Amino acid sequence: MKVDLERTPQGLSRIQMDEEASSLGLESEEGIFLSAVKVVLRINRRGDDFSLIGVITTTAELECSRCLEAYPQKIETDFILHIRRTDGKVMSPSDDFDEDYVVVPRTMQRVDIGERVRQAVLLAFPVKPLCDPNCLGLCPHCGANRNEVHCQCQSEDSGEGWQVLRDLWQDRS
Ligand SMILES: [Zn+2]
Ligand SMILES: [Zn+2]
Repeated sequence: MKVDLERTPQGLSRIQMDEEASSLGLESEEGIFLSAVKVVLRINRRGDDFSLIGVITTTAELECSRCLEAYPQKIETDFILHIRRTDGKVMSPSDDFDEDYVVVPRTMQRVDIGERVRQAVLLAFPVKPLCDPNCLGLCPHCGANRNEVHCQCQSEDSGEGWQVLRDLWQDRS
C-alpha cells in the first residue's frame, strides 16, 4: 500500500486504496478477513511535507466473547501520518522513532504506509468482541446458546429464588 509522493499535487487531495488483509500481514493470528482493507486518504501537501489522514474500513470474522459464535465485525478506524522529504539527515527507526512521523530522503518517490495501516487495524479490534450488544451468551448451567434456544435452566433459577424466600420465611417462624 504505497503513496506516490511524486504524483501528489500541492494542497489538498484525496485518494482511495484497497488491499487484501493478507498482503498487509493481517491474516493469521488475527483471524479471517471478510473484505479487503479499504483506506481513504486525505493528503495536504506543502512542498515536501505531506500530512495524511487515513480512514480505514474492513470486516473481520471474530468470535463472540459471550456465545462463542463467529460473526462479522465491521472495523472502522483512522490514523494520521506526517511524511517529510529532506536532503538532511534521515531518521533511522532507532532514532527516537515516532510512528506518526516519517522522514525520508528527497529522492524517495513512493512511501509504503502498509505497516501504519496494519497497526491501526490491530488497535481497532474490540477487546471484548460481541456478536450483538444484547447477546445473551451461553447458559452457565447447560451451555446452550441462549440466543437460539430457551433452556429450562432459567425457570430453575427463579425456583432457587423462591427457595431463598421460603427459607427466609421459615427462619422467621
Ligand atoms: Zn454472541
Ligand atoms: Zn440452560
